[in-house]
Amino acid sequence: MKQEILGVNFDNLTREEAARAGARLLEEDRFHYVVTPNPEFLLAAEKDPDFRRVLNSADLALPDGIGVVYSAKIMGRPLKARVPGIEFAEDMLACLDERGGRLFLLGARPGVAEKAGENILARYPNITLCGTQDGYFRDEETVLLKVAAARPDLLFVCLGAPKQEKWMARWGRHTGARLAIGLGGVLDVFAGNVERAPESWQKLGLEWAYRLKKEPQRAGRMARLPLVLVKAAGERFKK
Ligand code: UDP
Repeated sequence: MKQEILGVNFDNLTREEAARAGARLLEEDRFHYVVTPNPEFLLAAEKDPDFRRVLNSADLALPDGIGVVYSAKIMGRPLKARVPGIEFAEDMLACLDERGGRLFLLGARPGVAEKAGENILARYPNITLCGTQDGYFRDEETVLLKVAAARPDLLFVCLGAPKQEKWMARWGRHTGARLAIGLGGVLDVFAGNVERAPESWQKLGLEWAYRLKKEPQRAGRMARLPLVLVKAAGERFKK
Protein backbone atom coordinates (compact mmCIF):
# COMPACT_ATOMS: atom_id res chain seq x y z
CA MET A 1 0.00 0.00 0.00
CA LYS A 2 1.28 3.47 -0.89
CA GLN A 3 1.80 6.13 1.78
CA GLU A 4 1.25 9.74 0.68
CA ILE A 5 3.83 12.25 1.96
CA LEU A 6 3.34 15.86 0.83
CA GLY A 7 1.66 14.80 -2.42
CA VAL A 8 4.10 12.00 -3.32
CA ASN A 9 3.11 8.34 -2.87
CA PHE A 10 5.77 6.12 -1.28
CA ASP A 11 6.00 2.35 -0.93
CA ASN A 12 6.27 1.51 2.75
CA LEU A 13 8.93 -1.21 2.63
CA THR A 14 12.08 -2.31 4.42
CA ARG A 15 15.25 -2.60 2.33
CA GLU A 16 14.75 -6.37 2.06
CA GLU A 17 11.11 -6.00 1.00
CA ALA A 18 12.11 -3.38 -1.56
CA ALA A 19 14.78 -5.73 -2.93
CA ARG A 20 12.22 -8.54 -3.27
CA ALA A 21 9.76 -6.18 -5.01
CA GLY A 22 12.53 -4.97 -7.35
CA ALA A 23 13.54 -8.56 -8.13
CA ARG A 24 9.93 -9.32 -9.15
CA LEU A 25 9.94 -6.31 -11.49
CA LEU A 26 13.19 -7.51 -13.04
CA GLU A 27 11.58 -10.92 -13.67
CA GLU A 28 8.58 -9.54 -15.53
CA ASP A 29 9.04 -9.07 -19.26
CA ARG A 30 7.87 -5.44 -19.50
CA PHE A 31 9.18 -2.00 -18.58
CA HIS A 32 9.06 -0.71 -14.99
CA TYR A 33 10.65 2.30 -13.33
CA VAL A 34 11.64 3.07 -9.77
CA VAL A 35 12.07 6.51 -8.19
CA THR A 36 14.01 7.34 -5.03
CA PRO A 37 12.66 10.71 -3.82
CA ASN A 38 14.46 12.75 -1.17
CA PRO A 39 13.11 15.95 0.47
CA GLU A 40 14.32 18.07 -2.48
CA PHE A 41 12.03 16.03 -4.75
CA LEU A 42 9.03 16.78 -2.51
CA LEU A 43 9.65 20.53 -2.71
CA ALA A 44 10.16 20.36 -6.49
CA ALA A 45 7.07 18.17 -7.04
CA GLU A 46 4.92 20.67 -5.19
CA LYS A 47 5.70 23.26 -7.86
CA ASP A 48 5.86 20.92 -10.85
CA PRO A 49 2.67 18.85 -11.34
CA ASP A 50 4.24 16.92 -14.22
CA PHE A 51 7.12 15.81 -11.97
CA ARG A 52 4.60 14.80 -9.28
CA ARG A 53 2.61 12.77 -11.81
CA VAL A 54 5.78 11.03 -13.01
CA LEU A 55 6.78 10.19 -9.41
CA ASN A 56 3.30 8.90 -8.64
CA SER A 57 3.22 6.71 -11.76
CA ALA A 58 6.38 4.81 -10.77
CA ASP A 59 6.22 1.08 -10.04
CA LEU A 60 8.12 1.68 -6.80
CA ALA A 61 8.88 4.91 -4.90
CA LEU A 62 11.48 4.47 -2.16
CA PRO A 63 12.27 7.12 0.48
CA ASP A 64 15.92 8.00 -0.14
CA GLY A 65 16.36 10.75 2.46
CA ILE A 66 16.01 10.74 6.24
CA GLY A 67 13.98 13.96 5.77
CA VAL A 68 11.25 11.93 4.04
CA VAL A 69 11.17 9.47 6.95
CA TYR A 70 10.94 12.33 9.48
CA SER A 71 8.21 14.04 7.44
CA ALA A 72 6.23 10.80 7.35
CA LYS A 73 6.54 10.50 11.13
CA ILE A 74 5.48 14.12 11.69
CA MET A 75 2.46 13.54 9.44
CA GLY A 76 1.46 10.53 11.55
CA ARG A 77 2.11 8.08 8.68
CA PRO A 78 5.43 6.52 9.65
CA LEU A 79 7.44 4.66 7.02
CA LYS A 80 9.18 1.42 8.00
CA ALA A 81 12.60 2.53 6.82
CA ARG A 82 14.71 4.79 4.70
CA VAL A 83 15.75 2.86 1.59
CA PRO A 84 18.73 4.69 0.06
CA GLY A 85 18.80 4.54 -3.74
CA ILE A 86 22.38 3.26 -3.72
CA GLU A 87 21.46 0.29 -1.50
CA PHE A 88 18.49 -0.60 -3.69
CA ALA A 89 20.82 -0.29 -6.72
CA GLU A 90 23.28 -2.70 -5.08
CA ASP A 91 20.49 -5.19 -4.37
CA MET A 92 19.35 -5.02 -8.01
CA LEU A 93 22.95 -5.53 -9.21
CA ALA A 94 23.20 -8.64 -7.02
CA CYS A 95 19.95 -9.87 -8.52
CA LEU A 96 21.14 -9.17 -12.08
CA ASP A 97 24.45 -10.89 -11.30
CA GLU A 98 22.57 -14.05 -10.28
CA ARG A 99 20.78 -14.24 -13.60
CA GLY A 100 23.73 -13.01 -15.69
CA GLY A 101 21.79 -10.02 -17.03
CA ARG A 102 22.64 -6.90 -19.01
CA LEU A 103 23.27 -3.45 -17.48
CA PHE A 104 23.31 0.02 -19.08
CA LEU A 105 24.61 3.07 -17.17
CA LEU A 106 23.23 6.44 -18.26
CA GLY A 107 24.34 9.73 -16.72
CA ALA A 108 27.06 11.75 -14.97
CA ARG A 109 30.01 13.55 -16.51
CA PRO A 110 31.91 11.94 -19.42
CA GLY A 111 34.03 9.00 -18.25
CA VAL A 112 32.20 8.48 -14.95
CA ALA A 113 29.77 5.78 -16.15
CA GLU A 114 32.67 3.79 -17.70
CA LYS A 115 34.65 3.90 -14.42
CA ALA A 116 31.52 3.04 -12.42
CA GLY A 117 30.90 0.12 -14.80
CA GLU A 118 34.44 -1.18 -14.30
CA ASN A 119 34.03 -1.13 -10.52
CA ILE A 120 30.59 -2.75 -10.71
CA LEU A 121 31.92 -5.60 -12.90
CA ALA A 122 34.73 -6.22 -10.42
CA ARG A 123 32.08 -6.87 -7.76
CA TYR A 124 29.41 -8.54 -9.93
CA PRO A 125 31.32 -10.52 -12.57
CA ASN A 126 28.29 -12.25 -14.14
CA ILE A 127 26.79 -8.95 -15.28
CA THR A 128 27.28 -7.85 -18.90
CA LEU A 129 27.87 -4.10 -19.14
CA CYS A 130 26.05 -3.56 -22.43
CA GLY A 131 26.58 0.21 -22.67
CA THR A 132 27.30 3.58 -21.06
CA GLN A 133 26.39 7.16 -21.94
CA ASP A 134 27.23 10.41 -20.16
CA GLY A 135 24.40 12.61 -18.95
CA TYR A 136 25.24 15.79 -20.86
CA PHE A 137 23.61 15.00 -24.20
CA ARG A 138 21.47 17.25 -26.37
CA ASP A 139 19.34 14.81 -28.33
CA GLU A 140 17.18 12.57 -26.15
CA GLU A 141 16.08 10.40 -29.06
CA THR A 142 19.64 9.53 -30.15
CA VAL A 143 20.39 8.43 -26.60
CA LEU A 144 17.20 6.37 -26.53
CA LEU A 145 18.26 4.56 -29.73
CA LYS A 146 21.70 3.85 -28.24
CA VAL A 147 20.16 2.40 -25.06
CA ALA A 148 17.60 0.31 -26.98
CA ALA A 149 20.29 -1.08 -29.32
CA ALA A 150 22.27 -2.27 -26.27
CA ARG A 151 19.25 -4.38 -25.09
CA PRO A 152 19.67 -3.85 -21.32
CA ASP A 153 17.65 -5.65 -18.65
CA LEU A 154 18.55 -3.09 -15.98
CA LEU A 155 19.12 0.62 -16.60
CA PHE A 156 20.50 3.17 -14.12
CA VAL A 157 19.38 6.70 -15.04
CA CYS A 158 21.55 9.25 -13.23
CA LEU A 159 20.74 12.68 -14.64
CA GLY A 160 19.64 14.43 -11.44
CA ALA A 161 15.97 15.12 -10.63
CA PRO A 162 13.55 15.79 -12.26
CA LYS A 163 15.39 15.14 -15.54
CA GLN A 164 16.01 11.45 -14.82
CA GLU A 165 12.41 10.71 -13.76
CA LYS A 166 10.97 12.55 -16.75
CA TRP A 167 13.39 10.73 -19.07
CA MET A 168 12.32 7.34 -17.67
CA ALA A 169 8.61 8.15 -17.92
CA ARG A 170 8.91 9.47 -21.46
CA TRP A 171 11.40 7.05 -23.06
CA GLY A 172 11.73 4.12 -20.66
CA ARG A 173 9.26 1.75 -22.28
CA HIS A 174 11.02 2.17 -25.65
CA THR A 175 14.38 1.05 -24.24
CA GLY A 176 13.35 -2.60 -23.96
CA ALA A 177 14.69 -2.65 -20.38
CA ARG A 178 12.72 -4.41 -17.67
CA LEU A 179 13.73 -2.05 -14.91
CA ALA A 180 15.03 1.53 -14.88
CA ILE A 181 15.99 3.28 -11.65
CA GLY A 182 16.48 7.03 -11.18
CA LEU A 183 19.59 7.28 -9.02
CA GLY A 184 20.97 10.85 -8.97
CA GLY A 185 24.67 10.94 -8.13
CA VAL A 186 25.07 7.19 -7.63
CA LEU A 187 27.42 6.70 -10.62
CA ASP A 188 29.84 9.17 -9.00
CA VAL A 189 29.83 6.94 -5.91
CA PHE A 190 30.30 3.70 -7.89
CA ALA A 191 33.11 5.40 -9.84
CA GLY A 192 34.83 6.25 -6.54
CA ASN A 193 34.66 10.04 -7.14
CA VAL A 194 32.31 10.68 -4.20
CA GLU A 195 32.34 8.65 -1.00
CA ARG A 196 29.29 7.66 0.98
CA ALA A 197 29.08 8.67 4.66
CA PRO A 198 30.62 6.13 7.07
CA GLU A 199 28.11 3.69 8.54
CA SER A 200 28.20 5.39 11.96
CA TRP A 201 26.93 8.64 10.36
CA GLN A 202 24.33 6.73 8.32
CA LYS A 203 23.00 4.98 11.44
CA LEU A 204 22.50 8.35 13.15
CA GLY A 205 20.57 9.63 10.13
CA LEU A 206 23.36 12.12 9.43
CA GLU A 207 24.30 11.14 5.89
CA TRP A 208 23.12 14.60 4.73
CA ALA A 209 25.47 16.30 7.25
CA TYR A 210 28.43 14.26 6.04
CA ARG A 211 27.60 15.22 2.46
CA LEU A 212 27.41 18.88 3.45
CA LYS A 213 30.80 18.59 5.16
CA LYS A 214 32.35 17.06 2.02
CA GLU A 215 30.51 19.27 -0.49
CA PRO A 216 29.95 22.64 1.28
CA GLN A 217 28.81 24.13 -2.04
CA ARG A 218 25.55 22.22 -1.42
CA ALA A 219 24.69 24.49 1.53
CA GLY A 220 22.36 26.72 -0.52
CA ARG A 221 20.51 23.73 -1.95
CA MET A 222 20.24 22.02 1.44
CA ALA A 223 19.17 25.10 3.38
CA ARG A 224 15.62 24.61 2.09
CA LEU A 225 15.31 21.07 3.36
CA PRO A 226 13.95 21.83 6.86
CA LEU A 227 11.06 23.43 4.96
CA VAL A 228 9.85 19.90 4.20
CA LEU A 229 9.50 19.19 7.92
CA VAL A 230 7.66 22.47 8.46
CA LYS A 231 5.28 21.62 5.63
CA ALA A 232 4.75 18.12 7.06
CA ALA A 233 3.89 19.66 10.45
CA GLY A 234 1.49 22.05 8.70
CA GLU A 235 -0.27 19.10 7.01
CA ARG A 236 -0.55 17.25 10.31
CA PHE A 237 -2.27 20.16 12.02
CA LYS A 238 -4.50 20.87 9.04
CA LYS A 239 -5.87 17.37 9.47
N1 UDP B 1 23.82 15.04 -14.27
C1 UDP B 1 23.77 14.61 -15.59
N2 UDP B 1 23.19 15.41 -16.51
C2 UDP B 1 22.67 16.63 -16.21
C3 UDP B 1 22.70 17.05 -14.84
C4 UDP B 1 23.29 16.22 -13.90
O1 UDP B 1 24.23 13.52 -15.90
O2 UDP B 1 22.17 17.30 -17.11
C5 UDP B 1 24.43 14.15 -13.28
C6 UDP B 1 25.51 14.74 -12.41
O3 UDP B 1 26.76 14.68 -13.09
C7 UDP B 1 25.45 13.84 -11.19
C8 UDP B 1 23.99 13.38 -11.16
O4 UDP B 1 23.43 13.76 -12.40
O5 UDP B 1 26.24 12.69 -11.42
C9 UDP B 1 23.06 14.03 -10.14
O6 UDP B 1 23.68 14.67 -9.19
P1 UDP B 1 22.92 15.37 -7.99
O7 UDP B 1 23.98 15.76 -7.05
O8 UDP B 1 22.00 16.42 -8.49
O9 UDP B 1 22.00 14.20 -7.46
P2 UDP B 1 21.84 13.60 -6.00
O10 UDP B 1 23.12 12.91 -5.69
O11 UDP B 1 21.52 14.75 -5.09
O12 UDP B 1 20.70 12.65 -6.18
